[in-house]
Amino acid sequence: MRVDLVVVGAGLFGLTVAEQAAERGLDVAVVDRRDHPGGNAWSETDPETGIEVHRYGAHLFHTSNERVWEYVNRFTGFTAYQHRVWTVHGGEVYPLPINLGTLNQFFRSNHGPDEARRLVAEQAAELMGEPRNLEEKAVSLIGRPLYEAFIRDYTAKQWQTDPRDLPAEVISRLPVRYTYDNRYFNDRYEGLPTDGYAAWLSRMADHPRISVHLGTDFLDGDHALSRDAVRGQVPVVYTGPVDRYFGDAHGALGWRTLDFEREVLPVGDFQGAPVMNYADGDVDFTRILEFRHFHPERDYRADRTVIVRERSRSAGPGDEPYYPVNTPEDRSRLLAYRELVEQERASGVAFGGRLGTYQYLDMHMAIASALRLVDDLDELVHGRGTV
Ligand code: FAD
Ligand code: UDP
Repeated sequence: MRVDLVVVGAGLFGLTVAEQAAERGLDVAVVDRRDHPGGNAWSETDPETGIEVHRYGAHLFHTSNERVWEYVNRFTGFTAYQHRVWTVHGGEVYPLPINLGTLNQFFRSNHGPDEARRLVAEQAAELMGEPRNLEEKAVSLIGRPLYEAFIRDYTAKQWQTDPRDLPAEVISRLPVRYTYDNRYFNDRYEGLPTDGYAAWLSRMADHPRISVHLGTDFLDGDHALSRDAVRGQVPVVYTGPVDRYFGDAHGALGWRTLDFEREVLPVGDFQGAPVMNYADGDVDFTRILEFRHFHPERDYRADRTVIVRERSRSAGPGDEPYYPVNTPEDRSRLLAYRELVEQERASGVAFGGRLGTYQYLDMHMAIASALRLVDDLDELVHGRGTV
């Protein structure tokens, strides 16, 4: 087998690197532990209802990056879907992200934008200086009463970590608006792949210079594309967990995993929306996804629907790592791992993606950072090897 580059992980980061390297004339082997390509963005058709279900939780594509938008459109068209989310608090349903509608419903008021801003500023007055963590950031953005209603308990369920130990960026992802606009994302481009994620992601790997090896763990030394076989011989782009690559030498980094409880219900519409969050601590799940609502343009049967309840917990050995927790302790471990990552570069191994960099990356960010890595590919690919 002739291989110029080994890509570990067939997620969006790995597939982008592989496709771009193949287009530049390299023969690429992609290995993935799972039995399908596409990483966490993979979706499947529910056999009973025909409804497309995102296997690893709802994946909404959005970007303002022109290069990424042009790139993804080579492989798929996108629907006109715009993401909107509601949340249940105290037995009532409110719109998210926090906007003038949420605020006026919560305070039983009819404030205009300026009055609402003044109210929130008063309710955030306890804070001095730059917000240093998730709690301070959230209170500075929406004031304490809205924080306690919509963020505190949801965040406790999602992270089981003191919000004062969580980085402010986790909450900065959500816009706060002093209008009635309840679109979840601010980006210029948004939509879902017209014929589904599986079709999109499979097309990326469908290249004569790419071979995909599923059910293959790179860190398991027992095959021709394992770390032991290729390290130092062929350049590698590794997108698996950085701590696992180094045998947890500096301790395991904290991850959250999710349990997805899928149910088919004999009704045409369960909740009237794609995502309903549960803000309060009295229900143990964070949200319910109802997948038919992601594709209103499709002709799904009207008497069945698929819902998925999402629960979050700390990832143990063998669990899929989904969200980096990023406590101060994790961050200091990460710095130590980054030194090892630098050293591995000399053996032709580059790290990337959500797991390889221990960073929360949306799909468009993973693709953008993979395109940047490909810009420097010549530096990584010194010569051509054969394994
Ligand atoms: P991944 O998709 O995780 O791919 C990594 C791959 O590496 C996996 O397939 C894994 O099996 C493989 N691998 C790991 N270790 C090994 C090994 N030792 N050997 C072989 N293979 C290995 N982004 C959005 O833009 N919008 C959303 O709405 C959104 N929702 C999300 C919801 C959830 C619950 C999660 C977890 C993520 C969400 N994302 C969303 C982020 C999106 O999933 C990531 O941006 C994307 O998956 C990043 O791709 P990646 O290639 O870095 O990682
Ligand atoms: N969040 C919250 N309440 C909500 C929605 C989000 O407190 O109703 C917080 C929570 O800490 C979450 C973060 O905002 O982890 C980011 O939310 P997002 O919806 O982007 O989370 P994801 O879809 O990535 O799980």
